[in-house]
Amino acid sequence: MALVNEHFLKLPGSYLFSDIAKKVNTFKVTHPGKDLIRLGIGDVTQPLTPAVIKAMHVAVDEMTSKDTFRGYGPEQGYDFLIDEVIKHDFASRGIQLERSEVFISDGAKSDTGNIGDILRHDNTIGVTDPIYPVYIDSNVMGGRSGELQEDGKWSNVVYIPCISENDFIPQIPEKRIDILYLCYPNNPTGTTLSKAELKKWVNYALANDTLILFDAAYEAYIQDPEIPHSIYEIKGARKCAIEFKSFSKTAGFTGIRCGYTIVPKEVTAATLSGERVSLNKLWNRRQSTKFNGTSYITQRAAQAVYSPEGQKEIKEIIDYYMTNARIMKEGLESIGLQVYGGDNAPYLWVKTLDGLSSWKFFDQLLYEANVVGTPGVGFGPSGEGYLRLTAFGNREDCLEAMKRIKKWI
Ligand SMILES: *Cc1c(COP(=O)(O)O)cnc(C)c1O
Repeated sequence: MALVNEHFLKLPGSYLFSDIAKKVNTFKVTHPGKDLIRLGIGDVTQPLTPAVIKAMHVAVDEMTSKDTFRGYGPEQGYDFLIDEVIKHDFASRGIQLERSEVFISDGAKSDTGNIGDILRHDNTIGVTDPIYPVYIDSNVMGGRSGELQEDGKWSNVVYIPCISENDFIPQIPEKRIDILYLCYPNNPTGTTLSKAELKKWVNYALANDTLILFDAAYEAYIQDPEIPHSIYEIKGARKCAIEFKSFSKTAGFTGIRCGYTIVPKEVTAATLSGERVSLNKLWNRRQSTKFNGTSYITQRAAQAVYSPEGQKEIKEIIDYYMTNARIMKEGLESIGLQVYGGDNAPYLWVKTLDGLSSWKFFDQLLYEANVVGTPGVGFGPSGEGYLRLTAFGNREDCLEAMKRIKKWI
């Protein structure tokens, strides 16, 4: 008899975005002909840029000839991409990395979800709340979360609230944490951490032997020069942090799939007997066994992002989305809504009107303004009373959505 991993059965039945899809479908059936503006799901809308497309075409052509054909590549990624990553994303900020500290992957969702493979099941987990659901759900699957309680929290997870009352700045919790997830700029709140705030967490990790898993998927959206792009800008982080990056939001790779993870040589975790083990070695072993590398064509596409044309092109797209964010933020604030984020991230975190619940506000927005957002509570208990809007839409849709919301309010 094959037994299942029963931890999977603890996961609540449906996923946030399928609940939303159901509500949207009901609306469509009962309101035929009404068009909806979707500012809910965090996918990009602008196509890949010419430099990326050109590189992919060249790579495809290379596959047609025996001399240039590429089969299995290194599981950790090709040096041509790793070198660009090190030079542009780290050396430019004074961070030195070795090639073997960079692991090219098919995206940050896989890596943030899979990293648990190399960590024991009985670590305590800490998350800022609200948060990208993958961090918690992947720990549920790994048996690390405990049980789901009535308040919507898992018993072995420490929730660190990030709410308007504390300016969305996480405070050090009383209970010790073994593994802490941080995501900055943040999805879903669109807020950031200053160097001083991030330093506080690195110092906490060093003092408490905590491993930080730092998700920097939205790093490219940072506009303020004072905000750190990488956790390794903070002294000591090389000893206690793993960092995840993705080309998805940076360069429209949500369908192409490419990201990378940095595991510095100095990061270690303990065995039960207290011996220190290099996580770089373990992650390398894990990837070599379970992952066969990101496709050559994709890695050439990612390399092109770092070319001068590529950099110019993605900057234009990021500016486009950030202009959307500004238009939406100003529009919503002008009618008295409280809006957070949107300055250094493509997300707006909107406080619901009159203390409505996230889902009630979602319904009102859907039925009265025909705009689809994402209920904040779907990202964790502290998301209750908020709604997330994304700036990844088309300009016309953002403008039209603001018109509709103003009319409704
Ligand atoms: C979109 C997103 C990612 C990127 O995931 P990919 O698998 O690289 O597409 C990672 N983390 C967060 C918080 C995200 O919102």
